[in-house]
Amino acid sequence: MSVPHLQVFETARPFPEKVDVAIIGGGIAGITVAMFLAEAGISVAVLEKGRVAAEQSSRNWGWTRQMGRDPVELPLTIESLNLWRDLDRRFQINTGYRETGITYVCRTKREIDEFTKWGEYAKAAKMPSKVLNGPELQDLIPGLSTDFKMALHTANDGRAEPGQAVPEMARAADRLGATIVQDCAVRGIETTAGRVSAVVTEKGTVKASSVVVAGGVWSRLFLGNLGINLPQLKILGTACRVEGVADVSEMPVGGGDFAFRKRLDGGYTVAERSANVSQITPDSFRLFRDYIPNLKTSWHELRLRIGKTFIEEWKTLRRWQLDEVTPFEKVRVLDPAPHQPFVDNAMVNLTRAHPAFANAKLTHTWSGAMDVTPDAIPVISSIERIPGLFVSTGFSGHGFGSGPAGGRLMSELVRGETPCVDPTPFRLTRFRNTNAEA
Ligand SMILES: Cc1cc2nc3c(=O)[nH]c(=O)nc-3n(C[C@H](O)[C@H](O)[C@H](O)COP(=O)(O)OP(=O)(O)OC[C@H]3O[C@@H](n4cnc5c(N)ncnc54)[C@H](O)[C@@H]3O)c2cc1C
Repeated sequence: MSVPHLQVFETARPFPEKVDVAIIGGGIAGITVAMFLAEAGISVAVLEKGRVAAEQSSRNWGWTRQMGRDPVELPLTIESLNLWRDLDRRFQINTGYRETGITYVCRTKREIDEFTKWGEYAKAAKMPSKVLNGPELQDLIPGLSTDFKMALHTANDGRAEPGQAVPEMARAADRLGATIVQDCAVRGIETTAGRVSAVVTEKGTVKASSVVVAGGVWSRLFLGNLGINLPQLKILGTACRVEGVADVSEMPVGGGDFAFRKRLDGGYTVAERSANVSQITPDSFRLFRDYIPNLKTSWHELRLRIGKTFIEEWKTLRRWQLDEVTPFEKVRVLDPAPHQPFVDNAMVNLTRAHPAFANAKLTHTWSGAMDVTPDAIPVISSIERIPGLFVSTGFSGHGFGSGPAGGRLMSELVRGETPCVDPTPFRLTRFRNTNAEA
């Protein structure tokens, strides 16, 4: 069982010799930059080692939410929701976006305290989030377990279809003139007088005066070969598709130990919420100091695992020449195994939360590796040491919702335009030692 319904993107455009902007990575971070740049008439190429959206961008839950976000990231998320609302009309695409609202339901004191605090913040920030008591929650989601005494609901959050949204955006970028090349790993960059002048791929060189690294979990490895230390680790999430469930709610709903979202194909994407696997790798040791503050707050959500990934990553080439086969060509699509206990727990927890899931039929299970920074905030930044080089990555499990604004912001940074949100919190230099050996 694997990821359901990833739309195939195809194009007949020839390999480009020269563009203004080359983008490494065909996930939502890279494709949205291409879409906004192509709309502005800039010549742009996306180079993708595998297939458009085949890694995180099709494996996510499809929630587009501001609720519960770090206040530092909130302006980006709010801008992104503004974009989502108009994206289909603006680019003549069908992302499956619906403004359904999102609800978090609370059972334990810790959950109630957490969401009460966020509800107060939202009120002060004049956001449309509101706290619901038990009866109000029952009216909103009939049949939900009466164990839930409180909920936080945000009416203008929503959902979209991961398997179709990014391929649709790629089609829009293609129609606007962007070249998207798949099965094409980028090995590195060339510079002239210290400035970016080209990307070198396994299929040839593309001259470009600006390069955006939007490589998801691979960005650290790619930048490491250029002597740039991007602190980024991988966390594995597991999700499933079920069918045979009566209509429960149009909106995504999450509790402490479950999450569900209605899909346009009649099923639901479900998961055990707050349950991720953190594989111990050599980078876990290299970056341990950077992640201590984050670990203090999120350790309870992580299952630490040491296994063959440690050895695989230990053996992975970390420095290479541009005429060598790189790790990017060896793994076209990162497809980690789902963590079966999370699947089993999700089914049990969902049934406990809502009896409609009691007879749910499991049709697909999959896993995805999320790229997480030490402060769980993305990096959307120029790289000062190499003029013309930019990075948009580290969306830390939020990048589907924040993707459109991340793409817009990056396109503005590349063009030297006034940014739609303050880019300061997203600068790479907020981390220590970014020029050190990775
Ligand atoms: C299980 C799960 C649930 C999630 N749920 C949500 C959610 O509900 N809401 C939300 O907002 N976010 C969610 N996320 C997070 C979201 O999916 C990601 O933050 C987002 O998709 C990241 O997009 P990206 O483009 O940065 O990375 P990716 O989608 O991983 O794309 C990066 C691409 O770069 C390519 N690449 C890398 N290196 C090279 C190279 N050298 N040459 C060429 N190509 C290269 C890769 O092949 C890949 O296709 C979830 C993630 C997971 C795994």
